[in-house]
Amino acid sequence: MLKAAALGGLGLGGLGLAGCSEERPSPPRRPPTSPKPATSPKPTGPADWNALERGLDGRLVRPSDSSYKEARRLYIPRYDRVRPAGIAYCETPQDVSECVAFATVKRMPVAVRCGGHSYAGWSTGTGLVIDVSPMDAVKRDGDRATVGAGTRLIDLYDKLADDGVGVPSGTCPTVGVAGLTLGGGLGVTSRAYGLSCDVLEAVQLVTADGRVLTCDAQQSPDLFWACRGGGGGNFGVAVSFTFRTHEVGDVAPFSMRWPWRKAADVVRGWQRWAPAAPGEVWTSLHLDTGPDEGTPSIEVAGLALDGASGHMERLTAAIGADPASSTAQSRPYMDAMKFMGGCAGQSVEQCHGEGALPGQRPGGAFPRTEYSGKSHIAYRPLPDEAIRALLSRFDKGNDVQNRSVLMDAMGAAIARTGPGDTAFPHRKGLFCVQYLAPDDAWLSATHGAMEPYLGGAAYVNYIDAGLKDWAHAYYGPNLDRLRKVKAAHDPGRLFRFPQAV
Ligand SMILES: Cc1cc2nc3c(=O)[nH]c(=O)nc-3n(C[C@H](O)[C@H](O)[C@H](O)COP(=O)(O)OP(=O)(O)OC[C@H]3O[C@@H](n4cnc5c(N)ncnc54)[C@H](O)[C@@H]3O)c2cc1C
Repeated sequence: MLKAAALGGLGLGGLGLAGCSEERPSPPRRPPTSPKPATSPKPTGPADWNALERGLDGRLVRPSDSSYKEARRLYIPRYDRVRPAGIAYCETPQDVSECVAFATVKRMPVAVRCGGHSYAGWSTGTGLVIDVSPMDAVKRDGDRATVGAGTRLIDLYDKLADDGVGVPSGTCPTVGVAGLTLGGGLGVTSRAYGLSCDVLEAVQLVTADGRVLTCDAQQSPDLFWACRGGGGGNFGVAVSFTFRTHEVGDVAPFSMRWPWRKAADVVRGWQRWAPAAPGEVWTSLHLDTGPDEGTPSIEVAGLALDGASGHMERLTAAIGADPASSTAQSRPYMDAMKFMGGCAGQSVEQCHGEGALPGQRPGGAFPRTEYSGKSHIAYRPLPDEAIRALLSRFDKGNDVQNRSVLMDAMGAAIARTGPGDTAFPHRKGLFCVQYLAPDDAWLSATHGAMEPYLGGAAYVNYIDAGLKDWAHAYYGPNLDRLRKVKAAHDPGRLFRFPQAV
């Protein structure tokens, strides 16, 4: 997950078509388009942009629209230059079906968008952007929650916390539940409750032929499996998710800092302790160049569900050196999620991006940030030589501000699911390493320096346009099955981008 501090302050610094359940638009608001078998694209759809606009419940933004400049933006500003032909804010699954039919007839490229946080900018393009943001209802029913695919993480946490429950998900408040869940979903409670895709019970998906399918363990099980870690934008447009929930109470965020001269000890001790620690505690090791030029920093940020002090003591013992400073404070769950997400003390409204478009709020204050990311999944601890190589990336001459390496502990509940049980394959990973920087050169050099020690496994949610052999890196042994699901449900490859399955 992303270090919130780098984005405005942490405060602490996842075969076979039988059994598909299909739902039709009801009642039809436009001439109904007849569904076809999954192996052939829908031949009819709106004839032009005006017809598409008339057929949508939601809003269609075109280049002549005053809100086009804002509507085309993603989270990362470098993609502001991309100019879609149209952005459809879909209010219903039927809106999505209409967009799919239009794009098929027009042979127009499609990009699917939720929170717009794709590192590679693959939720926009020059054709039609299908934005699911207006579908953001969150409804709790017993120990299940049905969540509109356009929901932002801050709203997921907020609406469920009101009922004293939660779903394990990511940290950044403006990230979309769709992109995150479809790629897996690592979060601060994942060691206790699993990845977001692990608590997914069902997903409603609009497929390339325009049908609205409910996919779960019984219905369309192949698609359901693929949607649990197979990556966003590959198999259809998700319109709603049903998650199992867990109860929430007070939790304790904590932070521990050591002087840089102790950095090798901290990395060595943390990587042995953190993946094997109880599921009640999650930690992330942060190496940063900023904010004081020339003074790299090392910090462990964590969240404990059962009190922080015992975990902090055991981590200190594993490292063999007391921290120079540390903080820990028990907080209500929602406060802690804001704190971990970098909007501590702010209102839920403020934890959104600013604006009037779906997904934004007029009083939103969460900033966009310019950077690129790369990742590794570490399957074994770093040897001393690798630790030296990692730390040297923060030496003088490599000390431009805002360069970070974040190591998020895995293990516990994440490892209790098998590599092939969902499409997310990295169940035996010890920790996820994320490299973040505004400059690609440092990022590539740092990632390259660690490759001899960490190999080629990577996290699809930290999608990386420059990654060689990306398909095996993201999907490992699940790749062949994912390709079969893709061929069965999107044979014409309507949903495509440079790293589409
Ligand atoms: C600031 C920041 C913090 C992050 N923190 C975490 C974290 O804590 N944990 C973690 O696991 N990851 C984290 N990530 C990574 C994040 O999970 C991915 O970037 C994710 O893909 C973002 O989803 P999105 O909906 O916001 O982005 P988008 O750019 O809208 O979508 C990402 C991908 O999913 C596809 N997609 C979007 N909506 C749908 C849909 N409805 N149906 C089908 N496909 C769809 C898009 O086409 C695109 O390929 C973070 C990323 C950033 C930038």
